[in-house]
Amino acid sequence: MSRTPGRAGRFTRTIPAVPECLFCQIVAGEIPATVVRDDDLTLAFRDLNAQAPTHVLVITKAHHADVGALVAADPDALTALHRTAAAVAADEGVAGPGWRLVFNSGPDAGQSVPHVHGHVLGGRHLEWPPG
Ligand code: AMP
Repeated sequence: MSRTPGRAGRFTRTIPAVPECLFCQIVAGEIPATVVRDDDLTLAFRDLNAQAPTHVLVITKAHHADVGALVAADPDALTALHRTAAAVAADEGVAGPGWRLVFNSGPDAGQSVPHVHGHVLGGRHLEWPPG
């Protein structure tokens, strides 16, 4: 499922909740993304810089800075995000072999986009501990 700004479909164009936020702009359809799942609360799309054969970002459509802010504000949306992540893993065929859901939160963890997103990673052996 590919999405480009202005394309008709099941995606609703909206005003970005936080206009300068990259992922709010993807939710609003202003920036293209390869969307793999879309529901009322969450959106899942392929990471531009994939670190594994499966590398999908799962976000809440509402803007929350990170997973801590999300669980404080809307635990049901965090549950929805996890549900979408598990569905993506199943869709991608990695639920059996193994996959990882990673939330980078804050500068020490390398969070580069301050809109909560879980990285669904799979399709290869994933080392532990992470770098
Ligand atoms: P993080 O470093 O944990 O904040 O993750 C942000 C992720 O967003 C990185 O893995 C980037 O490759 C990814 N990314 C940045 N811009 C885009 C975009 N326009 N479409 C898809 N993924 C993106």
